[in-house]
Order: sequence, then structure tokens, then C-alpha cells
Amino acid sequence: MIKTLKSRNILAVLFSTRTFPVKQALFEDRIITEHCVKTGLSKSLFLTAAAMYCAKNINSDEVIDYTSSVATSITETIWTMIIMKKCTLCPRNCKTDRTNSKGICGAESKAIVARASLHKWEEPCISYKNGAGTVFFSGCNLHCCFCQNNIISNGLYGKEISDRKLADIFLSLQDSGADNIDLVTPTHFAINIINALDMIKHKLSIPVVYNCGGYESVETLNLLNGYIDIYLPDIKYFSPEISRNYSNAPDYFEIASKAVLTMIKQVGKLRYNYEGGLSKGTIIRHLVLPSHRHDSMKIIDWIAENTSADDVMVSIMNQYTPFDFISDEFPELKRRVTKMEYNSVVNHAAESGINGFAQQKSSASEEYVPDFDLSGV
Ligand code: SF4
Repeated sequence: MIKTLKSRNILAVLFSTRTFPVKQALFEDRIITEHCVKTGLSKSLFLTAAAMYCAKNINSDEVIDYTSSVATSITETIWTMIIMKKCTLCPRNCKTDRTNSKGICGAESKAIVARASLHKWEEPCISYKNGAGTVFFSGCNLHCCFCQNNIISNGLYGKEISDRKLADIFLSLQDSGADNIDLVTPTHFAINIINALDMIKHKLSIPVVYNCGGYESVETLNLLNGYIDIYLPDIKYFSPEISRNYSNAPDYFEIASKAVLTMIKQVGKLRYNYEGGLSKGTIIRHLVLPSHRHDSMKIIDWIAENTSADDVMVSIMNQYTPFDFISDEFPELKRRVTKMEYNSVVNHAAESGINGFAQQKSSASEEYVPDFDLSGV
């Protein structure tokens, strides 16, 4: 039985189960209201989840004071449970119950990781000394038809881990000298990442990088405020037709452009440490696709018009690889990007006054794809 009592700004959750006659937990009304606004769920659903949590985790004679850190972590955990019940973490908004099924991204409630290791091939200010501490998450909310990490993004290869284990992986990467914690395709596991960072943030002294596909919801980015130091989003497509064809996301540019502006506002200007490594800021990545250089140039134009060189760098990537799995439906994708195509985009960026990075042609190879072998997991 669950009863809720309201007194001033405190909500008391009283409930009994067969095993424990009465348990009580107190939550500050403001905290509950904040979580309900964030999740779009009702207070009654929140309180039901609170009771479920407390029945499992709190001793019968214990009263949890809303002012204690324990109460805060309980509300965070309850909030996780609620989000996972009706997921709206990304713009797909598929409302999947991730406690018993997979969303469009392929994810259930626990994080899946395919590799955690030092990686020397990110941009020079991200991999500047020992390498980025990459954590490759499995699953993806975009499912691009040409994805170089297809085995994990669509194939879901990887190991399911607890948030505690994820926190330990972050610390272990830091201990091995990682320049940062580089979260690769993290969107659908944003809540697991927040939980893991909450456990160890007092021990983490290197920046956290959010290395994502750009198809992000502003609400989820707001939840990440204070946890992320560097955003490394893609802007993949400008045209709705291209994004519909390759990622089934006709609203990709509309969503990604809003997300990128939110990221820039959140982390502010580009800042560096004394070794030249990026400590804060945003780098926008763009992979040039064969036959679509004009679409790339429209993205460059948008960046030039809407961002400042103090806030943003642009990394123009040349590693497109025509893998065998690419559908015959897209014959234009079955070749590499020509030198003329790539250089025309890079020159356009330079003429637009954009700062950033271009990539050597030699990186357009299947060898560039990391081994997804559960290293470090
Ligand atoms: S993160 Fe996954 S489950 Fe959640 S809304 Fe996006 S696609 Fe759906």
C-alpha cells in the first residue's frame, strides 16, 4: 500500500509490504517537481517508483531525510527508473519501456560497451599526449547506412555493464594516463553516464568528452550540464532528403543545429590546458560523403553564419569507407570520396574563416576502424 502525505514542502512516501510493515522516505517536493518537469511524467508515477525503490533498498526502521545525500541519490535512481520506463532521451522519442525491451537505438536499461582503451587518432587537441580514453558504447539512435562501426551500432556487439562498472572503467582509463574520457555514441546511455559520473566525479581530474552523432534532444543535453566539458558532435547532413535516405531522420539538420547551439552555450569558449589539450569547448565533426559535397558546403555555411571561431572548431573528415554492407539502393555511396570532393569542402571552410582540422587521405581505410574486442570492459 502506498500513501503520500504533503506537509509544507515535504512529500512523505509511506508504504507497507509483506516483508516490511512500514517504511518511510521523505523527498523534497521541489526535487520531485524538477524531475517530473524533466521527464514529463506525473507525480503519482514518480511516487509509485519511489515506493518500489524504497521497498527494495531501505530498512523498515529507517527514515530517509530529504536533506541527506542519500535522499538525493535515491531520487536520481528513481528518476532513472522512470526514464527507462518510457524513454524520450533522444529525438526519436520512441517511449520504449527499456526495462523489458529495446528502443530504436537497440538499448535496454544497462549500458553496453564494446571497447574502452586509449585512442591516439582523435583530433590533435583531443588525443594530445597518451590518447583519448575512449569508451565505445553499442547501439545508436541514427543507424546510418554507411556506419564504420556497424558491428556495434547496428550489430550491438558488446558487454552489458552496471553503472558502477562504467564508473570503474572511467577511473581505470584515467589511471592509464588518458587525456580525457571520450564517450563515443553515448546518447542512449546518458542516464547511465550521469549515474556513473556522480559516483566518481570527486576523483576524476580529466575532461569528459561527449562524442556523438548530433541527433540529440535539448532536454537531455540540459541534464548533462555540468557533467560534460567538451562536446564533439557530428553535423552529418543538411538536406532532409539525404538524412531521410541514409539515417531515416528527415529532421536531422533541424535537430542537430539546435543541439549544437545548446552545446556551445553550455560549455562556452574553447579553452586549452598548458600542454595544448582541449579542456572545454565544442568541435563539430563533418564526414564528407561521396557525391554530396554541396550538402557539406551548406553545413559549413551554417556554421560560419551561426557560430564564432572562439567557440567552435570544425573537423572535416575524409575517412568515408564504402563497406560491402552498403545497400545497392545507394550506388552513389559505393565509392570513396575523391580528392577534388574533399578539397573543395576544405577550401570552402577556409574561405569561410572557419578554424579546425582537415584529415589525411590515408585515414580512409578499414584499418581505421578500432578492434571491438571488449578490451578494457
Ligand atoms: S534513446 Fe533509444 S529508447 Fe530512448 S528515445 Fe532514443 S531511440 Fe528511443
